[in-house]
Amino acid sequence: PLCITDPIEEHRICVCVRKRPLNKQELQKKECDVITVPSKCVLLVHEPKQKVDLTKYLDTQAFRFDFSFDESSSNEMVYRFTARPLVETIFEGGKATCFAYGQTGSGKTHTMGGDFSGRTQNASKGIYAFASQDVFLLLNQPRYRSQELEVYVTFFEIYNGKVFDLLNKKTKLRVLEDGKQQVQVVGLQERQVSCAEDVIKMIEMGTACRTSGQTFANASSSRSHACFQILLRRRGKLLGKFSLVDLAGNERGADTSSADRQTRMEGAEINKSLLALKECIRALGQNKSHTPFRESKLTQVLRDSFIGTNSRTCMIAMISPGMSSCEYTLNTLRYADRVK
Ligand code: ADP
Ligand code: MG
Repeated sequence: PLCITDPIEEHRICVCVRKRPLNKQELQKKECDVITVPSKCVLLVHEPKQKVDLTKYLDTQAFRFDFSFDESSSNEMVYRFTARPLVETIFEGGKATCFAYGQTGSGKTHTMGGDFSGRTQNASKGIYAFASQDVFLLLNQPRYRSQELEVYVTFFEIYNGKVFDLLNKKTKLRVLEDGKQQVQVVGLQERQVSCAEDVIKMIEMGTACRTSGQTFANASSSRSHACFQILLRRRGKLLGKFSLVDLAGNERGADTSSADRQTRMEGAEINKSLLALKECIRALGQNKSHTPFRESKLTQVLRDSFIGTNSRTCMIAMISPGMSSCEYTLNTLRYADRVK
């Protein structure tokens, strides 16, 4: 059988793929859709207009993931099978992470930060908000209500190996590692929140800070990783942490041959961090004692998410359906395939 019914509960690492619909411009240009999702776990990349014969995968590349979401899937549906099963982890004292990986324009920010289908981004319809809502739902259940838990959020961006606080006017922050290998982002704002609406305000504030002053053509948001964290504290002491990361566009890692020195350096940095991320997740999945978290700022900052017996990770690989994105799509799928 092609499908596994409910794999997530058992696994520390979950890898999924989401295909977005063809957009208006692509439809106008009569772009061909080269992606088919024939079942819950399988995704095919094939020649345009070819009738896909599912019995023979001739000239077709087939990939299998924990879940494959087709173009009709909603953010809520994707959330339910990816980040949702990780929410309990932080109440049990663990670290959870969810990554959105993929090419610029493939739907990372749409999925994590919120639906863009209206006129502006709807921050209440993204994985950041859904996860926060469920944190408050759990918090108010009898078994946790008596525990005096407090919820905080942080929101920061890693651009070219430097950390900027999105809840504090993009202040540049230092990262320190102490003798016990504890990593600390010095001065990072932790905002206490008491309901899901509070969180949505923080998401909107951070998102506005991230994109302020950017033109689409030169958007540095495609060249930075954005990390939104939900922290659970009990009497000031950290209990659990959920990190939700909207990664830099993976095609930016290919900018290493650009004529522009700055672009080249940014490309090299993105490449380095995405490679390090893959190795750190693999190390977590295989229970390896060595985790190469020092290889990049991204993995250094997320260090405690890759170690410990109660750490769980989910990666959502986003793909564009068009023929013209095919090469990047294959890169994305191969990367996601190797994470596990
Ligand atoms: P990325 O963050 O990966 O660069 P975005 O999230 O900004 O990509 O998405 C690019 C565009 O595609 C946005 O206008 C967004 O609304 C649209 N889009 C992405 N995913 C979907 C989807 N699943 N359904 C509808 N529109 C989508
Ligand atoms: Mg984006």
